[in-house]
Amino acid sequence: MGLQVEVEQLFERQLREWPLVQRNYAALDDMAVRVLTLPCGSNLVLQFNPERVRSNAAAVDAASLASRPCFLCAEHQPSAQESIRWREHYKVQVNPYPIFSRHLTISLQEHVPQQLSPQRLDDMVHLATELPGFVVFYNGAQCGASAPHHFHFQAGLKGLMPLCDEVDDEALWPIDSRIDSRDDGFLGFSQRWGRFFFMARAQSPTLLLNYMARIMLAMVRATGNAHPMVNVLCWTAGEHGNALFFPRGKHRPSCYGDGPGQLLVSPASVEMGGLWTLVRKSDYDDVTPQRIQQVYDELMVDNATAVRMIEMLSTNEL
Ligand SMILES: [Zn+2]
Repeated sequence: MGLQVEVEQLFERQLREWPLVQRNYAALDDMAVRVLTLPCGSNLVLQFNPERVRSNAAAVDAASLASRPCFLCAEHQPSAQESIRWREHYKVQVNPYPIFSRHLTISLQEHVPQQLSPQRLDDMVHLATELPGFVVFYNGAQCGASAPHHFHFQAGLKGLMPLCDEVDDEALWPIDSRIDSRDDGFLGFSQRWGRFFFMARAQSPTLLLNYMARIMLAMVRATGNAHPMVNVLCWTAGEHGNALFFPRGKHRPSCYGDGPGQLLVSPASVEMGGLWTLVRKSDYDDVTPQRIQQVYDELMVDNATAVRMIEMLSTNEL
């Protein structure tokens, strides 16, 4: 049986047997949603989702993390929480505090840090292939992950992050935005959607993985950080696999907070994809496209570093 079928059965069981999941997924149906457009024309979906306060306002400093039990370790999970085993080392679980009507957490059984490696990228590509209805995403430590000490991906049902559809049109990837271009895929970069990112697109999982590994290596070398700050989205579209890498320079915007005029959000992959979950009604009602553009501008890696990454990828050094 395929993973996606197993996942659907897992949802059916958990929705029937776990009241917390039942309540939080039912609440998604009535959740208020607004659509905004950035000055560049890229769309944003705002979701008013108070239950996500756990994630948006999570304290992720060392002392706070050490003082609370890890919610991805089996011994701290509620007995109602089931899991599917995947690739020996992973467990696939229903996220009890969803953004998507199908929202998964896919974590290693072991308590090891949130750090990408070639093996983890390979896992990500295979997850996206085995879950064709989902976008698989990864939040680096200090990039929206609320459990940076325990390696995990997440996956959300396709169709809610506007950027995934917007980038899928190859006509929007002119040759000067491509570092490598072939009949069966390309490696590109762009700023036209209001935030800088790399895109890898390929028909074969091998080529996709090759592009993804090169992007990671360029990020490591350009930043001098073995574990650079990054958000990653990966999904399949027709015959292609797509991956977006958002190199980050900063964890939270300077307007972060729960005071007047502030914004209580820790942007992660989902926000990079254009879906903003807001936990305060005033943020949901008042935030403007200009404010969100400012947040993107503040969080993305600086221009000089982005240029270094592009140069490294372009000169075939990698
Ligand atoms: Zn853990």
